Amino acid sequence: MSNRIKILPSLVVNQIRAGEVVESPTSLLKEVVENSLDAKASRIDIEIRNNGLELLRIDDDGHGMAYEEIPLAFMRHATSKIKTFQDIYALSSYGFRGEALTSLACVAQVHCLSSPGPLASGGRYVIRGGEALEHSPHASTEQGTSLFVKNLFYNTPVRLKFVRSKMAEKNSLMRTITSFLITNPSVAFSIKWDDGDKSFYPSLSLEETTARVEQIFYPKGKGESVLYQTSGEYEGYAITLFASSRAFKSQAPRVQFLFVNNRLIEDRILHSMIAYSLPSLWPENKIGHYCALIEAPPKDVDVNIHPRKTSVKFLNAPAVYALLKSVVHNIETSAKKGSPDDAPTPPRPYGPFPKGGFPRGKLNPALNPHNQYLSVHPELSLVFVDKCYHLVNNSLFLREIIQKFIENPSTESTPLLVCEPMDYGPNSKERIDYLNSLGFELEFLGENRLILKSFPTALADIPFIQLVRSFFSTLSQPEKNSPKALLLQSVEGLSLEAVEAHRYLDSWPWSRDCQAVRAVDHSLVEELFHGG
Ligand code: ADP
Ligand code: MG
Repeated sequence: MSNRIKILPSLVVNQIRAGEVVESPTSLLKEVVENSLDAKASRIDIEIRNNGLELLRIDDDGHGMAYEEIPLAFMRHATSKIKTFQDIYALSSYGFRGEALTSLACVAQVHCLSSPGPLASGGRYVIRGGEALEHSPHASTEQGTSLFVKNLFYNTPVRLKFVRSKMAEKNSLMRTITSFLITNPSVAFSIKWDDGDKSFYPSLSLEETTARVEQIFYPKGKGESVLYQTSGEYEGYAITLFASSRAFKSQAPRVQFLFVNNRLIEDRILHSMIAYSLPSLWPENKIGHYCALIEAPPKDVDVNIHPRKTSVKFLNAPAVYALLKSVVHNIETSAKKGSPDDAPTPPRPYGPFPKGGFPRGKLNPALNPHNQYLSVHPELSLVFVDKCYHLVNNSLFLREIIQKFIENPSTESTPLLVCEPMDYGPNSKERIDYLNSLGFELEFLGENRLILKSFPTALADIPFIQLVRSFFSTLSQPEKNSPKALLLQSVEGLSLEAVEAHRYLDSWPWSRDCQAVRAVDHSLVEELFHGG
């Protein structure tokens, strides 16, 4: 009787299970990059040969592993990330199954070099088809982990057969890398494909996500494209949306991403809401690159990870749709404004400013004679308006705007779509009355908390929420300072890149007479910014 029930050898079991975690080079890449990010790496170098089948090398500067820890990492259910069942719910790291490395070691040849620091005892570990071949001390001068994965699926020929076509696998590897690049701008990445040159993605601050996105959207240069960016918050959800004016016919390859809490998801409804609601940006039958980063309270989302597609359910879907609609509308409005014939648009309905929502890079007045704006430096903006370039000293300009506004407050105010809560210190009554007299609407919320409900429409283009916050936080100031002096003083602490000076230059006649604004010579600008 040959058909007796047999217990499978553990390698076979592990090979089968490996298929669930390391299903393709893409899923392998995803697991190992997530591990590096979980290890708090600030630099991740990736090398890929033959779409990961020949080699996947990943090098990070994360916290590394000590000599005796390395073999444990390759054991099933080895993880440093959970200890009890409850931890699964409290986990903020990516993976928690503790089987990526085990699975991987069963279907490839893996070399791992790791060290927790220059003076600590690191190790070298070689494992092939689940069998450890070497475990030796390794003295490294640097903290971090290098993983070399060679000949993926060498011992599971059937799985090898199921790896997608070269083109499809490469696209999927690239999409995975790109999604990490977008959601981790502060990590420096380098990527090398086969014998090609390395692409470098330097580390950027979170505020500079725009620069990362530009590097991804326009690998061959931005040209005349305009990158729009806007964000909004509503009922605990927040969305930042980037959309490029460069549009493609439906079949062309596009870079389109939806993230929920930094996880890449696919969602037809959210996609359609973006793709078909930007007629001023994308002409009929064309869609461009976009990227939407949705943040939701973790308890309000149900992320369902299928082997291939990732879908998501929101507890409060109407709120997400409403918010997305409103940020898409913001971009549509800005794009529409780009055409000179249109009437000025009403101020945006809500407070936090789109960060750098206007073209960065080279000015191109030929493309759009209005509102050409370039942040040349955190302190300086270059604005092209009325056929003339103006250089604007942001902080001085802001101060002058506030000063003019204080002298001549307008009565018009705009309600915030989402009220902004803030703290206030003792003796703030006078300051609150003062702001209310200028057209802000502030209400007490309880002990030391108040909410900002409306703001003076005239200040729509400056970071007024930040301004009010810093106004209330200048506590150490002697109370002899008048609220007016304090308000002007608060201007100093603002992040100035958020000042959309061009809007004032365009719509406030007096603003061009400000000391902070200088008309500059065309030839100088050509030389400086158009590179001759
Ligand atoms: P999990 O990520 O679910 O814990 P893995 O199999 O992916 O399981 O990794 C097992 C363990 O190996 C991790 O918990 C971590 O302690 C360690 N590890 C893996 N990759 C790295 C790395 N790049 N840097 C430091 N430690 C790592
Ligand atoms: Mg992992």
